[in-house]
Amino acid sequence: MAAWRCSGRTNTELIQNLYKGHLITSSRVRDAMSSVDRAHYAPHSPYEDSPQGIGFSATISAPHMHASAAESLLGFMPENKGARVLDVGCGSGYLTHVLANVVCGGDGTGDGKVVGIDHIKGLTDMSLKNMRKSEEGRRLLDSGKVEFVTGDGRKGYAAAGPYDAIHVGAAALELHQELVDQLKSPGRMFIPVEDKGGWGSQWIWVVDKDENGKVKKEKTMGVRYVPLTDAPKT
Ligand code: SAH
Repeated sequence: MAAWRCSGRTNTELIQNLYKGHLITSSRVRDAMSSVDRAHYAPHSPYEDSPQGIGFSATISAPHMHASAAESLLGFMPENKGARVLDVGCGSGYLTHVLANVVCGGDGTGDGKVVGIDHIKGLTDMSLKNMRKSEEGRRLLDSGKVEFVTGDGRKGYAAAGPYDAIHVGAAALELHQELVDQLKSPGRMFIPVEDKGGWGSQWIWVVDKDENGKVKKEKTMGVRYVPLTDAPKT
């Protein structure tokens, strides 16, 4: 089904349409996305299944991409078991909130921790403000289960690691070793990487670290993300 057909007039309708269109296949991801009103994170047409500008030359990805990333990491994000997740390039904070719902349950009371990191302070401030728009979001922040950090996501955030799951929301030039080092054994990273071919194409790489620390890298689907870069000069 074409992505645009999965748009809705309300958040509930958007998520239902993505589920009906098989762009969301897991009920846990469906429920986690249903519990976050995308209007709190996307300023224009929040219930459209398309990417949108959020200022600071950044975009919020289309909801079907968020679903696909969350589903790829799902097996490493058990609910209420203290799973740790890092969301690199968190932008306006939407996926950070969804991932927190996955590990902490929709009401934010379960045991888990998600860190959203972005190198633009205007965006981590925006993430905080957006998350405070809902009671569940405020609960996640006030309990320290969600934290937003301003910094270079290519270096990860070792202070809260190691992580069961790492999501990277911008295209990297390489599979940054510091991120791989911050994965637990076992753990998984979902990361878009620029193809070395120089044709401007990007691929999602799924990097798995097994229980013995052995790392396996698999190139999966072709994608289009904004680049993971140096912080803009202020
Ligand atoms: N993950 C969000 C936003 C994606 S846009 C979403 O899906 O909605 C990509 C984000 O990556 C932008 O917010 C940009 O500021 C951030 N970014 C780019 N390079 C970065 C870096 N080196 N470290 C941290 N964040 C970075």
